[in-house]
Formats: sequence, C-alpha cells, structure tokens
Amino acid sequence: MAKKLTGMDIFKLLPKTNCGECGVPTCMAFAMKLAQKSAELSACPYAGEEAKNAIGAASEPPIRLVKFGSQKRTVEMGNELVMFRHEKTFVHQTALAVQLNTDLAHESIIKIAEFVDRHAIERAGEKLFIESILINDRGNSPAEFKASTIKAAEHFSGAIILKSDSAENLIAAADALLDRVPLLHALTRANADVLGEYVRARKLPVVIAGKGLDETFRLSEALSSGGHRDIVLDLTVTGGAAMLQNNTIARKAALAASVKPMGYPIMNFVTGRTNPADMIADASTCMCKYASLLVIDRYEPEALLPLLMLRQSIYMDPQKPIQVEPKIYPVGEPSPASPLLVTTNFSLTYFIVSGEIEGSGVPAHLAVVDAEGLSVLTAWAAGKFSAEKISSFIKSQEPATKMTNRKLVIPGYVACLSGELEEKLQDWEILVGPQEASDIGPFMKRLVNQ
Ligand code: SF4
Repeated sequence: MAKKLTGMDIFKLLPKTNCGECGVPTCMAFAMKLAQKSAELSACPYAGEEAKNAIGAASEPPIRLVKFGSQKRTVEMGNELVMFRHEKTFVHQTALAVQLNTDLAHESIIKIAEFVDRHAIERAGEKLFIESILINDRGNSPAEFKASTIKAAEHFSGAIILKSDSAENLIAAADALLDRVPLLHALTRANADVLGEYVRARKLPVVIAGKGLDETFRLSEALSSGGHRDIVLDLTVTGGAAMLQNNTIARKAALAASVKPMGYPIMNFVTGRTNPADMIADASTCMCKYASLLVIDRYEPEALLPLLMLRQSIYMDPQKPIQVEPKIYPVGEPSPASPLLVTTNFSLTYFIVSGEIEGSGVPAHLAVVDAEGLSVLTAWAAGKFSAEKISSFIKSQEPATKMTNRKLVIPGYVACLSGELEEKLQDWEILVGPQEASDIGPFMKRLVNQ
C-alpha cells in the first residue's frame, strides 16, 4: 500500500514556480489537491522524476478517471473518493447507456438512436438525458457490425460503447469511429492479448469482463501493469442484490484498502428484464451503489423518468445548491407595463416564486439575482442579496429601456432593503411584497388593481 503523503510532503517535491499550468494558481494549492486525491500529478508538466516516484501512486485518486466519447460529448467516470455521499460528495453521476442490438433492421437502429439522442427532461433547472448508446453485436461479420455501428453513430451525438464477443469485430467498428473515442466491451481472458494490444496502441478505454471478481482482478492487474489504465470493470451478475454485493466489494477494496486493480469505474448491465418495474428496481440499486456506467435495454419514457430523477437526486452535490441562471425571466406574457419582481437564483426559490406568479394570472417580469444559489433570507444574512447587488443587477439588465412600469417588488423578508434601494434606484418605486410565496397570488391581484 502506498505511503500517505501530506500536502506539505508533496509541496516539497514540486517545482515551486507557481506557473499555474496545472489549473490551480500555486504549487501549494496543487499539492493540497494531490493530498486530497482530487488531482493527478500528470497535470504538472514540470514534475521531476523524484516527484513522480515519491508522489505518483500515493496521490492518484483511488478510482481512476476514465473518459470516453467525443470532445463535445465526453462521459467522465471515476475519481470517486468516498463510499457515502455525506462523507464528502460523489464526483461523477452514473452514466446511462441504452443497448441497441445489431440484429435489428437499420431503420429500427436509426429510430432508437434518434429517440435516445433527443430524449431529455428539464428538472430544477437541469437538463437530464441519456449519455450513451451501446451497440451490441449479435453475431455479425466484422463488416456488418461496422456498418450497424456507423449507422447508429450517424444518428446519435453522444458517446458510443461497442460490445462484441469478437475482438475482430470490435476492432473493425472501433477503427471506423476513432474520433468518437468509443468504449470497447470487453477484454476477457480469451482475447486479452489481441484486444489489450489494440487498446494500448489506440489509447482507447476498454471494459474488462472476467468470470467473477478474481478473474476480473487478474485481468485488470495484467492490463494496467502493461501500461494501459483506461479501464472499466464490468461487474454484472444476475440480479440487483448480487450486483450490489459485487459493486460494494470492489469499491471498498479500492477506497479502503487501495487495491489498485479494483480502482476503476464499475459498469453494470440491467438488461433482459421483461417487466419494466424489475429493470427500474435493479437499475436503481446499481445507481445507488457504485455503478459508474449502467446499461439498460428499455427506453420507454416512463421507465427512463424515474432513473433520471433518482440519478439527479443521488448525485446532486449537497454542498452546492442548484441554481438557475441570473437574468430577467418573463412569467406569463408580460408587456413593458407589467411589474418587476426580484428574487435570488436558488432554484427552488425561483420555481416556487415563478409558479405563484403564473398561478395569479398576472403577467410579470422576474429578476433573478446571483446569490450563489442561496434562498432569500440566507443570502441576505450572508451579504449576497444586498441593495448594492440588486440595484447593480437591475441597472446591468437595463429594464428601464424596456419597462414603462417602474414598480420593483422585493421579497417581504428583505423589507429592510427598501430605503437603500430607493436611494440607489431613484427612478423606481420600491414595493415590499409578501414574505411567503403562497401570498404572492393575492398580492399580484391587488397590485394590478391599484
Ligand atoms: S504546473 Fe507544476 S510548477 Fe506549475 S503551479 Fe502547478 S504544480 Fe507548480
């Protein structure tokens, strides 16, 4: 097991030029990131051999960062540091892939690829979608598998996974898609030599699928000691409970015991379930416990919805409130004569306030000020929703040029800001709105009837 180095131990080995090329401004800041295992030494181009030998393994994240997909649509997995989200945070959410079998007609392949490409839902200001498709070879020739792959890739802009029992088929299809950086499934004991050599030469990520954890461990150890470390571990077994067990063993081995061959993202297949409820249940289990990549073969919107929502809830960083973009939003169909209300960019606040305004039937403009995602009272207490901040934002948006109604409504909880705002926004009449969102409806009706 590698010796645990402190930030100061690591700093002593760095060049100390503070050039910033590693993405943080100083060598000390980079040393602290290395000590927390949230950066890799390779990000510093000036680290010498002594530093590489001493820091290398000790500073690497226990779960390696592995990427696949094009530059525009990259899927990132790994870099995880904790078993439980409340210990710190999970770094990357489970990527979802829909399996597409090549025994389908090309028209069907295209139809599914296009559906998955388009499918997205908006929730709490975030767009939730499927990142990947897995093209599953059903005994085709290399040329046929390559043709199906190209067809699907033309109609899907996300990341591609290629799955075949034949290394020859995988190589034929991957060579046609190198610019999309596909993930290859799978390296096994039978094809380890030929596929290992190919992925090393092409620098492509590969999934290892051994028969059981022991064989997966040995294959992973052999491939990484040969210099290739863009590895994903397929720990699929039958049933959600068994996958939960496998995933937990592997993740615990990597995090708690620094077992390097297990220190890679985990992939699970939840396919072949005839009942969508079974698919949702098993997929949810894997998503909760350590699947970095999850393959499903059902794509009905009602099956995808709970998975997308669950994923958002699990992988949301509890230390970072969800935010909406600071700007002036129209609610209903406001005209220049409609009133202007102001609130913070905490997502929940925005959705509640805009929903109440909409429910009142009175069109309005809603100015959402950047308060680092805090709610009104918390932001005010932290000095992030001040008269200075609100007035600067209103002036920067120049509503005066468009709005003939000069009424600005502030939340009741920050009534104390009204005097200062009157001084800073002299051509506006500052009105104090209700404290509770549920009182916005009656307030809006009184406002337009004044
Ligand atoms: S790139 Fe290396 S030398 Fe430059 S600031 Fe980062 S750690 Fe220091």
